[in-house]
Amino acid sequence: MNMKTLSDILDPLTIPARYCEDLGNDIVRCYACAHRCTLKPGQRGVCKMRFNQDGVLRAPWGYVAAAAIDPIEKKPFMHFLPGSSAMTFGMLGCNFHCDFCQNWVSSQALRDPASDTSGRYIEKTTPQALVAYAQQAGARIVASSYNEPLITSEWAVDIFSLAREAGLYCVYVSNGFATPEILKALQPYLQGFKIDLKCMSDSHYRDLGGNLQVVLDAIVLAHELGMWVEVVTLIIPGFNDSNEDLWEMARFLAGVSPDIPWHVTSFYPTYKRTRTPATSAEILMRATDIGQEAGLRYVYAGNLPGRVGSLENTYCPHCSALLIERRGYSVVKNSITSEGICPKCGKKIAGLWG
Ligand code: SF4
Repeated sequence: MNMKTLSDILDPLTIPARYCEDLGNDIVRCYACAHRCTLKPGQRGVCKMRFNQDGVLRAPWGYVAAAAIDPIEKKPFMHFLPGSSAMTFGMLGCNFHCDFCQNWVSSQALRDPASDTSGRYIEKTTPQALVAYAQQAGARIVASSYNEPLITSEWAVDIFSLAREAGLYCVYVSNGFATPEILKALQPYLQGFKIDLKCMSDSHYRDLGGNLQVVLDAIVLAHELGMWVEVVTLIIPGFNDSNEDLWEMARFLAGVSPDIPWHVTSFYPTYKRTRTPATSAEILMRATDIGQEAGLRYVYAGNLPGRVGSLENTYCPHCSALLIERRGYSVVKNSITSEGICPKCGKKIAGLWG
C-alpha cells in the first residue's frame, strides 16, 4: 500500500490563489512574496506550498498546523494592546530556508524531508471556527505566525475579514519578504506587522533565500501604510552582532521612525546552526545601547527574561517614567492610559493601547 506523502495531504487543502497574475498560456506569476515565482503547469513556487495546477495557481487554505492562545508579547509586540491574548494560527511552509530557524519543522515542510513529520499536526478547520475560538478565549488579536504568513495570505485574509467584523485586531509575524502589491492588499485587514530584520548584509540575506533591500522596503512601506510595525533582530554571534551591523540596522530603523520598537533577541543553537553559541545578555545589552544611541526610543532585549535588567520594560521617552514593567511575556505593571498617554508627563506614546 502506498503511504501518503506530505504533498498528497497538503495539495487538496488549497483554493485558487488571488495574489497572482495570469500571464497567458497557463503561466501564472505569484506576488504573495517577493520571489514573484513564474510558474508553468506542474511547477511549484520557491515556498513549495503554492503550485500551478492546469494553469491555476493554488494557495493553501482550510487547515492549521497549530493554533494557540498566546500573549501578544510572545509575537513579540510590546506596543500593541499589551497584556492581550492573540489567537495565533500557522500553516506550513516558508519562502526562506534559514539554518537557524526555531520553527523549522513547520517552516521547512516540503523543502527539508526531515520536516515531513509536520503533516501530523494538520487539522482541517474554517475561518469561522478560528474566529469563534479567538472569541471564546477572550483574545483581542488574531495573529498569523509559526510559518511565513505571506505565502498563505489568502487564508489569513479570509480569517482576518471575519475577525475584523467581530472587532478583533489582526497581525502578521513575518520575515518581511513582501511585494508592495501584497502589502497594499493586506492593508485593510492588518493593524500590526512584525518584521524580522535579520542583518544588513545582502549576501547573508541571499544565503537565507531572500534579499536585503526587499525587506528594508517592506519595513518602510508597511509603516507608510499605517500598520503598526515592530522589528525583531535575532542576534546571532558571528552573524550579525558586530557593532557595525548593529549600528547599520539601528540607524536604518531610526531613519524610518524613532518610534519603531526594535527587539534584539537571543539566539540559541538549533536546526542546522548548532555550533554557534547562544547569545549572551551582554551582547543584547550592547545591541540595545547602540539602538538607543542611534535614536530609537524603544529597544527591547528578548528571550532572556530576568537577565537583561530593565530592558524588557517600556519607559516614557519624554520623562523616563516607567510605563510598562514586563518579565518575559508577562506584563507585571502597566500604567499607560488606554489612549496611550504617559500618566506622569501627559505625552503620547506611540502604539495601540486601548
Ligand atoms: S509565495 Fe513567494 S515563493 Fe511562494 S509561489 Fe508565491 S512568490 Fe513564489
